[in-house]
Amino acid sequence: MSQVSTPAAPSSQPLVMLNEDETLFRDNVRQFAEQSIGPKVREMDEKGVFDAALIGRFFELGLMGIEIPEQYGGAGGKFFEAILAVEEISKVDPSAGVIVDVQNTLVNNALLHWTTEDQKRRYLPQMAANTLGAYALSEAGSGSDAFALQTRAQLKGNDYVLNGRKLWITNGKEAGVFILLATVDPAAGYKGVTAFIVEKAFPGFSVGKKEDKLGIRASSTCELILEDCRVPKENVLGEVGKGYKIAIETLNEGRIGIGAQMLGLARGAWESAFKYSQQRKQFGKSISEFQGVQFQLAQMATEIEAARMMVYNAARMKDAGLNFVKEAAMTKLFASQVAERVASLALEIFGGVGFTKDCPAEKYYRDAKIGKIYEGTSNMQLQTIFKLLMGGK
Ligand SMILES: Cc1cc2nc3c(=O)[nH]c(=O)nc-3n(C[C@H](O)[C@H](O)[C@H](O)COP(=O)(O)OP(=O)(O)OC[C@H]3O[C@@H](n4cnc5c(N)ncnc54)[C@H](O)[C@@H]3O)c2cc1C
Repeated sequence: MSQVSTPAAPSSQPLVMLNEDETLFRDNVRQFAEQSIGPKVREMDEKGVFDAALIGRFFELGLMGIEIPEQYGGAGGKFFEAILAVEEISKVDPSAGVIVDVQNTLVNNALLHWTTEDQKRRYLPQMAANTLGAYALSEAGSGSDAFALQTRAQLKGNDYVLNGRKLWITNGKEAGVFILLATVDPAAGYKGVTAFIVEKAFPGFSVGKKEDKLGIRASSTCELILEDCRVPKENVLGEVGKGYKIAIETLNEGRIGIGAQMLGLARGAWESAFKYSQQRKQFGKSISEFQGVQFQLAQMATEIEAARMMVYNAARMKDAGLNFVKEAAMTKLFASQVAERVASLALEIFGGVGFTKDCPAEKYYRDAKIGKIYEGTSNMQLQTIFKLLMGGK
């Protein structure tokens, strides 16, 4: 991925204004999310299982290969559209949102920018058509300190032989293709880290325990087990020893996606509380007539608007070829704070009902927590932001 600092022509268009194509796309995704995902959200959350038929629908609608060029079967769209899709879907179900997000902003992103032409031909058409992807960096001993990873890759003949375990891998249960980071030389530190394209069917690969989580319960989070897993050397992604660069650059884009997930979540929570405030009567009138409640809703809406501008700005900066690293980190940091605050206040507006499983705000509140943890905790975003403010790269 290139981060060229050539500014695009200045535009007087308001940041949150969508053009005709973007509006149509957004409306279609919104309608699909409300009609097709909405009715299944509660059951999927309770069971902790995502409906396989819905994943099929994501592919049919072109939502899983938004930026993949048409020549490889994708939609040939922009990053901004992927962000709109994640936002609209997350408004209905943040679990569904992260499935679409990981596919587009991490897996396809890595494949689009770092593959050879042969790898493009082998992988991009299936990612657009029917194969779910996962992004496997974290391990039990390496989370924030991601490049302390221990999974080992040793070249034996024409294959790399991988041994180790990956933890917390989103889409792990359903994915067919994994962008997986391992080290070819533990003594070399981050310079040994190498990215591989690993298929579920490769010998020695298996999916381990699936986590039972607080939130985004329908999105699978799994351990991956590599026991003498043979990966053809043609499946090295980018160069050997450059995996750290691939990981950093893909996660920079991914963070805007998580910002969009949190933005959608906050909007969903706000709308549910707003509607309830008009229906619920106390002291002989609807609670939305009390200034105390009105001020809460106004404050929440203002914070959502600020998060939306940050998400859209970072995404549009990315599409314009500008350096967006600081803005991406700020976006994820802020949008996840807004999501948590808004979901919490939304729950309170529902009163006692808010504390029950019957209330949508209860789920948004649980789902919001992950925004401050994955793809770099809030502390790691603050570290990146401060480093960049100090003039670092
Ligand atoms: C639901 C879920 C889905 C996930 N999906 C994926 C995925 O698809 N792929 C993947 O690779 N990973 C995934 N992860 C892993 C996730 O990215 C890590 O959990 C995250 O990066 C934090 O790492 P950790 O859990 O090891 O926490 P730690 O790194 O152990 O952090 C613990 C605490 O210490 C703080 N801390 C650590 N170092 C510092 C420091 N230098 N300065 C200040 N504070 C610090 C952190 O902010 C945090 O509060 C997922 C995790 C979850 C829970």
